[in-house]
Amino acid sequence: MSATQKSAKELLERLIGFDTTSDKSNLALVDFVRSYLSELGVECTVLADETSEKAALYATIGPNQEGGVVLSAHSDVVPTEGQPWSSNPYQMRSDGGRLYGRGSTDMKGFLATVLAEVPAFVAAGLKRPVHIALSYDEEVGCLGVRPLSQHMKTRVALPEAVIVGEPTGLAPVNAHKSAYRLETEIHGRSAHSSVPSWGVNAVFYAAHLVTEIERLGERLAAQKVSDPRFEPPYPTVSVGEISGGTAHNIVPDHCRVVWGMRGMPDTDVPALVEEIRAYCDTQLVAKMRVVDEACVINTQIAASILPLKPRGGSSAEALISTLTGIAEMGAVSYGTDAGFFDDIGWPSVVCGPGDIAQAHKPDEFIAEDALDQCTAMLGRLGAHLSA
Ligand SMILES: [Zn+2]
Repeated sequence: MSATQKSAKELLERLIGFDTTSDKSNLALVDFVRSYLSELGVECTVLADETSEKAALYATIGPNQEGGVVLSAHSDVVPTEGQPWSSNPYQMRSDGGRLYGRGSTDMKGFLATVLAEVPAFVAAGLKRPVHIALSYDEEVGCLGVRPLSQHMKTRVALPEAVIVGEPTGLAPVNAHKSAYRLETEIHGRSAHSSVPSWGVNAVFYAAHLVTEIERLGERLAAQKVSDPRFEPPYPTVSVGEISGGTAHNIVPDHCRVVWGMRGMPDTDVPALVEEIRAYCDTQLVAKMRVVDEACVINTQIAASILPLKPRGGSSAEALISTLTGIAEMGAVSYGTDAGFFDDIGWPSVVCGPGDIAQAHKPDEFIAEDALDQCTAMLGRLGAHLSA
């Protein structure tokens, strides 16, 4: 090995050592990747966010021509607070063929194998490029991939495939659900609880809303299954938080409901949100305003992760089938950065080393074998792009 050539295992140890929990800066990790690639003669573009605490990065190896492949990873990890780890989560521990540490599976293991393969990509004389795309804040709503994909869209030639290396056990996935965070604010009117009719009880109206959301969920569960690969194979809703009121003898004038929806790739979630808004306006606000004209209910889409839509027979599906030897495409219910690359018209699949069952857990690990298999897949990719 040359001075700059490192194994995936060595690189994973370095990457795990950066605590890139989503609420912390990822700049030290990004700087490490930038200088590693720079030593190999690969120039990077670093895109800082508005706080200058986070940055995304992308790099192109080979000529910037159509038909390249984007290898996409996120730099952030989920918190370890409250989890019973057997050792320091930010210090890689190797034991019995497993490499333990936060992010080992989700998804620094993939990033480590990609970085370890860069010297081979550089030496291969690629005819079509490999692009490395590294985002931030994936775990808190795929925030980093939005500016990153928009920036790359106008500067990177249309790729044959985007491979998002989330842990799928190196099985190809061509579809995932969307995820929406919704916040509803209910503004009623305060009164002494001895004469409730002088007020508009925001918590009572929140209860009506919650029941309507539950009814929507039941309706969605009963609709025709469009893709039986999903678990469950229909859109889902959930109410996660309710807050309102201050005391038993005050009619509460405010209540806040935080809820969520996960859509199938073909679900028009904003249209369903519009139905809930219409219910609030016609069924609830109309009654509230009999007492006070100022009463209002507002529902906002606070965050959204786009779905990965299956594009039967796309160039990305064909390529990942060739690389993995697996023709069948899977579907997953968790969100990834892939939906945002799909949205800019780049054929995208999810396929990476490790088991999603390890992700976000204490004593997260990845098997060394899984890294070796990913390295072999990237070797086949290098040969494909050099041919
Ligand atoms: Zn992930």
